[in-house]
Amino acid sequence: MLDVTGPAARPDTDEEFDVDLFVIGGGSGGVRAARIAAGHGARVQLAEEYRVGGTCVIRGCVPKKLMVYAGRFAEEFEDAAGFGWTVPEPRFDWNAMRVRRDAEVTRLEAIYDTNLMRAGVDVEPQRAVIEGPHAVRLVRSGKRVRARHILIATGGHPVMRPDVPGMDLAISSNEVFELETRPDRILVVGGGYIAVEFAGIFANLGSRTTLLHRGERLLTGFDDEIRDGLAEAYGRRMDLRLGRSLSRLARGPGGIVATLDDGATIEADQVLVATGRTPNVAGLGLDTVGIDLDGAGAIPVDAFSRTCVPSIYAVGDVTNRANLTPIAIREGHAFADSVFGGKPWSVDHGLIPTAVFSTPEIGTVGLTEAEARARCGALDVYRSCFRPMKATLSGREERMLMKVIVDADTDRVVGVHILGHDAGEMIQAVGIAVTMGATKADFDRTIAVHPTAGEELVTMRVPAVTKRPEGVG
Ligand code: NDP
Repeated sequence: MLDVTGPAARPDTDEEFDVDLFVIGGGSGGVRAARIAAGHGARVQLAEEYRVGGTCVIRGCVPKKLMVYAGRFAEEFEDAAGFGWTVPEPRFDWNAMRVRRDAEVTRLEAIYDTNLMRAGVDVEPQRAVIEGPHAVRLVRSGKRVRARHILIATGGHPVMRPDVPGMDLAISSNEVFELETRPDRILVVGGGYIAVEFAGIFANLGSRTTLLHRGERLLTGFDDEIRDGLAEAYGRRMDLRLGRSLSRLARGPGGIVATLDDGATIEADQVLVATGRTPNVAGLGLDTVGIDLDGAGAIPVDAFSRTCVPSIYAVGDVTNRANLTPIAIREGHAFADSVFGGKPWSVDHGLIPTAVFSTPEIGTVGLTEAEARARCGALDVYRSCFRPMKATLSGREERMLMKVIVDADTDRVVGVHILGHDAGEMIQAVGIAVTMGATKADFDRTIAVHPTAGEELVTMRVPAVTKRPEGVG
């Protein structure tokens, strides 16, 4: 049980501290924690050295999704012809998109600021460093703050790897939002969420796109058939180079020249490197309080986000648990309720619905087929691969793939994987059922919504693959 040491529990020591909670970092996790703690009556101060909103709002999920939308219009214009429309040659204005996107980000940033202010959180627009278990120093003003609790929510930043000559010519997923023109040719390096999403965005926006990944399959950790389906679709949209690594980058007369490990060269106007992110811990003062990092450079915490120092907690990407915005938000909320609300609870990291905003999109929850094979004694895999209705008239070469993975001993649906239009929207709803422990029988008795792509999820009758323990019929 968590030791609740919130303000209500120890009112007599208020003068010892300037604030009950000092939050370092104004991203998704830090902002949620600050607001909820303030709502529980805590005196809260939050320091943010860049822009309130963090990676998600300022240079991640939000501007990225707006660019995903921008790119997808290209195929809408093309598809419209199959439905009788005559669409004049569409033209894309990068600058117009950029200005409107950035205005939206600024609007959201202001909302975050206002919400913090309304909650009574004192926001310090400067860097903060830890000087003791209860001490924080604001770097610009030099002011020292005595805090009963400190929450580290500093997030992460992109790492530029592999370490090859000429890497300084490449940009990361930070600078990609600052590009003033759309690159005619872009090389994207990496095979994770960010690389796959941006390769899709640029290909849709008309850039000649190469996606280079060291592995034979994109998106490590996702279901293999979904990965293969995405690679097939991406192979049609761009130059996809799998199983190849970057050896060097150099500036040539016509652009940046990338040399690969097989000797091939690719010339591009921009090279976007998206090969992972690492926690923001440098210069934070962790050594002064004796917090050692784990092997991935993250702050180790327990289920309640406690570090090894009882007064210091950490949430979000800086802890490298599941580096997703909704998880950081949940961790921040759980921390605030537990420490200041007298209601200790912790986040279940076991079942996380997630989407990749590639085109086609991916939505996934639960175990992959490979994971289920390893964990479940008996298994049924239901699979549906079909041409979506819209593609019949548009004539677009496109398939949707859906998989429902069932533990055949219990009939529980342990995994659902979708590749195709609106997969992200679908998986959010399916995620509720899977989180509730739905069985295949529950899926089967759910009435289909017709005609939709999603109805396939409740109309799959015969497993495509079954696995039974040896000797069992
Ligand atoms: P990921 O961890 O998803 O992917 C990193 C990619 O880089 C992998 O393909 C990896 O290859 C490759 N890689 C790692 N090291 C090297 C190297 N030395 N040389 C070549 N390739 C390398 O990181 P991202 O940067 O794409 O995203 C960071 C995090 O942001 C993700 O973990 C995700 O949680 C989050 N995110 C979520 C989004 C969403 O929810 N839609 C969108 C964007 C980001 P390999 O697979 O072989 O290891």
